[in-house]
Amino acid sequence: MSALTTAAGLDLVVAAGDGWIGEVPAGGRLRIVDLHGNQAVDTLLYDARDYANRYSAMDTVRAQQAVYLSTGSRLLSTGGDVLATIVDDTVGRHDTLGGACSKESNVVRYGDHTRHQHACRTTFLRQLDRWNRAAPDDRQGRPPLTVRDLGHNINFFMNVPVTVDGGLSFEDGLSAPGKYVELRAERDILVLVSNCPQVNNPCNGYDPTPVRLIGAGW
Ligand SMILES: [Zn+2]
Repeated sequence: MSALTTAAGLDLVVAAGDGWIGEVPAGGRLRIVDLHGNQAVDTLLYDARDYANRYSAMDTVRAQQAVYLSTGSRLLSTGGDVLATIVDDTVGRHDTLGGACSKESNVVRYGDHTRHQHACRTTFLRQLDRWNRAAPDDRQGRPPLTVRDLGHNINFFMNVPVTVDGGLSFEDGLSAPGKYVELRAERDILVLVSNCPQVNNPCNGYDPTPVRLIGAGW
């Protein structure tokens, strides 16, 4: 068990703009609760024994022949392994096409005045730094995670519909207060979460809010 998760499991509230990183063992479940609705939770998964074997949006979409994630979606890795399965979902669908917000994408999309706004990629890097600084035995000799390990992510609760002509748009959320999604780890995985602070598009209803992470079975 990692020092960054509690021994009795996990039950914590993550503020908007904050994040979490920790291991979920094979068979363990992680529920993410959208406490106030209309929140986006950017998430990356890694094989806990081999960080290079990380979540692959492209392989996940290809294998399930659908672009949205929901109950039954098997979240595949770059190596073709199932890292986790979505076993419960009260929202209906989640995005894995829209990517994570960054200072750079904010400037391109919304203008130079957004350059210094907090963004998900910054949270990801901050959480990786926390993980890298953890006691060496927590990582069991595995190499530190860097910006190169930030691949295409999942956006739980985020509504990015694909239009009939193949376009993507960020739309008002389908989620609502108390709705949740639950993952079951299919092998030991490392989970990296950014509770999105974005205020320039409707993914968070222009009002980023906290989410709750609940572990079970570990
Ligand atoms: Zn974001």
